[in-house]
Amino acid sequence: MILAVTMNPSVDISYPIQDLKLDHVNRVENVYKTAGGKGLNVARIVKQMGEDVMATGVLGGTIGDFIIQELKKSDIGNNFFKINQESRNCIAILHDGKQTEILESGPTLSAEEGAAFLEKYRELLFEITLVTISGSLPKGLESGFYQMMVEIGQEKGIPVIVDTSGKSLKQVLNHKVKPFAIKPNIAELSQLFGIEVERSNSSLKRVLINEMFDGIEWVVVSLGESGAFVKHGGDYYRVTIPAIDVVNPVGSGDATVAGLAVALKRKQSVSDVLKTAMTTGLLNTIEAGTGYIDIAKFGPFFELVEIKKI
Ligand code: ADP
Repeated sequence: MILAVTMNPSVDISYPIQDLKLDHVNRVENVYKTAGGKGLNVARIVKQMGEDVMATGVLGGTIGDFIIQELKKSDIGNNFFKINQESRNCIAILHDGKQTEILESGPTLSAEEGAAFLEKYRELLFEITLVTISGSLPKGLESGFYQMMVEIGQEKGIPVIVDTSGKSLKQVLNHKVKPFAIKPNIAELSQLFGIEVERSNSSLKRVLINEMFDGIEWVVVSLGESGAFVKHGGDYYRVTIPAIDVVNPVGSGDATVAGLAVALKRKQSVSDVLKTAMTTGLLNTIEAGTGYIDIAKFGPFFELVEIKKI
């Protein structure tokens, strides 16, 4: 079974308001609420790929209850660490062709709660083959928290895929115990080095040769519509995808992580791992829902992904 971790999940609420008036009352008829958070998107797509998955992380309050109900509706097993505070709402107001977002930062965890979660995580690993960790950490937890989760995975011989950014990513990369795979997008990679990383093969190779990535089996730099640039062991690959009509690209990176996790769990060949990860990413962009793919379209798109060794 794959374990998908979301440390700061949310309920994502979208308010379509044709003509938003500031400093006035605005009424909304159609409210859409979904269980949000990057790891929950990963869990949904892993499930759609036909693999067993369990969602974990930290949640609480009535918002936490809603998230669990939504996961149950999708038949996704869950085992979260419950806290007394409310999980967060993230609101998107869709107005005049624009999207204005109001994102709560969520609960603040104590060091004891962090330690108790790690204990739960350690226990959950008994029935797990592979772990994905996605998104940001809640307030209160030190930025080395994911690094500890990677280390616990390593102790038990379980590969861990980390998809995070900023300080948490830096900590994970600077630690001696490395994750099995990471999936930064080009913006996250640029932020890591404090420079604008170009999308060319030579530029990406120059960056990924940095010793910071030594020991990570798979470094998948996703490049949106341009596919990905990948370092696997000492080899580099450019992966290209067909041109498609994008409906909603939100969550594509999470879909890529889900495809990567499923393919690695199935011990597929290098080329099939990359094709699977790209196919789930692009399938997410052609659906309106976030963290949703139409599995019937998997085969035809898989055939159109191209891989070139650099
Ligand atoms: P993130 O969502 O983490 O920013 P990306 O935008 O790089 O990640 O997208 C992840 C993957 O999803 C890409 O590697 C690609 O396979 C697919 N994808 C994303 N945007 C597009 C797009 N506009 N057209 C086709 N595929 C896309």
